[in-house]
Amino acid sequence: MSMWQVVLILAVVLPPTIVLVQGRRYDKINRKERIVKLSKAYIASIFVELILFIISGVLGFFDYVGRFSGISGTFILFGPALLPIIASTLLLAYYSEKETMNRKTLLLGFVLLLAIVFGTIFLFMATEGITNFVIFIIYSMGVAEVFSKIVKKVGKGEVLVGELSEEIRRICKRYGIKIRNIYVLKDDKPYALVSGFGGKDVYVTEGLLEKLDRDEVIAVIAHELGHVKKKHLFKNSIISIVAVALAIIPMNLDLPVWVVIGGVLLSIALIIYDFTVLRLKNEYEADEFAAKIAGKDSIIRALKKLTEINEIPKDTPRWFDVMHSHPSIKKRIKRLEEMV
Ligand SMILES: [Zn+2]
Repeated sequence: MSMWQVVLILAVVLPPTIVLVQGRRYDKINRKERIVKLSKAYIASIFVELILFIISGVLGFFDYVGRFSGISGTFILFGPALLPIIASTLLLAYYSEKETMNRKTLLLGFVLLLAIVFGTIFLFMATEGITNFVIFIIYSMGVAEVFSKIVKKVGKGEVLVGELSEEIRRICKRYGIKIRNIYVLKDDKPYALVSGFGGKDVYVTEGLLEKLDRDEVIAVIAHELGHVKKKHLFKNSIISIVAVALAIIPMNLDLPVWVVIGGVLLSIALIIYDFTVLRLKNEYEADEFAAKIAGKDSIIRALKKLTEINEIPKDTPRWFDVMHSHPSIKKRIKRLEEMV
């Protein structure tokens, strides 16, 4: 076996092993501390993966890939690069959420992620030039729709009826927010989310309706509606489409190398900006909207309760916030308290 093969095997095996070992090591400690420790292990595993992958490439793996063309070449290149990342991501999810996550959900997540990641690569390779970009846009809309359907299916979602549902519809009407359906998911854990591309579905859990009082429930739902009102999901999709376009289109147009490299760098810069600035800003905006609808005190109380019940770490470092696309609860509450 040559050196690059050894390094490549390490690049595939080592990263998920890091998360697995740490996951088992911190299995017994409380969730708040566990999540921070595991997130650290996850970031370490991604770095290890990237470094080993590049070393293996320089030692001979990239030359080896060069012998293959078209789809097979792409899969041989991206397979070892992405598989360990997918595995690490799922192990992170499993050990962070092990109170609620079972092996079945984990397996489903693995199959789905694989299908999405490699489906995207396949689509790009199987089509030519600008057409693949159009297909990519349609495909990413489809993924968002499918995700919404899966949330409903896995969580055994049922349409919310009654007074609360009417109140939410009233808020939507007053602020010109278009939503499709409101579902209750069979889950003890209190949370809410909004999903879908063609139309937005709002999801709340039984746990949310049971463990929070009415004003707090409205505040949490209003936060999700705030994301719809401010078009955060739409903006996120546009950003990822632009990022992909910048990275892919120059390559397809046979432009000079510096344009291609420039495009890739711009794409990376855009993604970093999205994660470090925009996504965190979106959460503050949604909180602001929730405060407007349900009152500042309700959303602050709701955040405190959710932190308590779901064992979310309250004061987290910035890298953790960026990784989870949410500012820490401490910062969110501080922002809300400063609001007039
Ligand atoms: Zn949010």
